[in-house]
Amino acid sequence: MPREDTLAPYLSPEALAQRVDALAKTLGAELRTYGTSVQGRALRAVRIPAQTDGLPRVLCSANIHGPEFIGAMTALALLASADDDSWGIRRRAELWVVPCLNPDGYARTWELGGEGPLALLRTNANGVDLNRNFPRPAPSPSWLPGAGSQHPGDATFRGTGPLSEPETSHLDALCREQGFHASANLHSFMGTVIPASVRDTNAFRTYKALAAALAQGQRRTRYRRLSSRRLDVFTGEQEDHQHHVHRTWAVCVENFPWLASMRQHWRAPSTFWRFNPRRPEPWIDNDVPGLQAYFDAALQLERPASPPVSGALARGD
Ligand SMILES: [Zn+2]
Repeated sequence: MPREDTLAPYLSPEALAQRVDALAKTLGAELRTYGTSVQGRALRAVRIPAQTDGLPRVLCSANIHGPEFIGAMTALALLASADDDSWGIRRRAELWVVPCLNPDGYARTWELGGEGPLALLRTNANGVDLNRNFPRPAPSPSWLPGAGSQHPGDATFRGTGPLSEPETSHLDALCREQGFHASANLHSFMGTVIPASVRDTNAFRTYKALAAALAQGQRRTRYRRLSSRRLDVFTGEQEDHQHHVHRTWAVCVENFPWLASMRQHWRAPSTFWRFNPRRPEPWIDNDVPGLQAYFDAALQLERPASPPVSGALARGD
């Protein structure tokens, strides 16, 4: 067990659960356990009721990769901002927050004091990269970097089949049940916004505008959009699945830019300190207004159109 301060100011799994409980209580929110992980940990969502029934639902989720604790911290800060007068989200939508999509990876990262190879920290307890485990809307070449691997032990091992893991299948069920209007999925450490991969011009333009809204909302450092209609491939990522199957405007937000990580440590003492800022507050302060602006912009839109070949999309390949 690491000393309590090895990864400070980040939270132990127990402290994270307590923080979620306390925030939910303060906000009068509902705590929902939507499933359990491979090792039996609760998959927890917080639902902030809207002021009136029938309003759209939006989702902020984080930490699908074990060591990316800054995402969970940022998601909790967004949750805590739900009652800020300047945002007023309850008047327009129901806010859902899943601070940790991969509690087994989080706990393993904590137990190892953030040290170890990425493949060990990033994955779930079956060694699966959960963000390569969603059905792919179309086949994509596996040789592209990060496109996902079929080999157990690799950092991007996609598992034995789409949604083979409880963490992804339960999230899929939650998405199906709630029909989220928009989603922001938090990662680190690139300082970029990566929209769902889309082929049609209108959706592509819409994501450009949503990413611009997010960047304009950020306080100091504005993240760049990373997308290409031609070069993007379907790799089994969460936002692609949410867009193409659940008709959700969905982006990956990589908190804590690469350059800031390099400035922090040219040679990071552990995997953990490559992915997370020593001082999370400045980055949380930078990113929360951007996330608010993204959700506000998405709520002005209709949900994405129905997928043209829904059977094939839902089945994956
Ligand atoms: Zn990630």
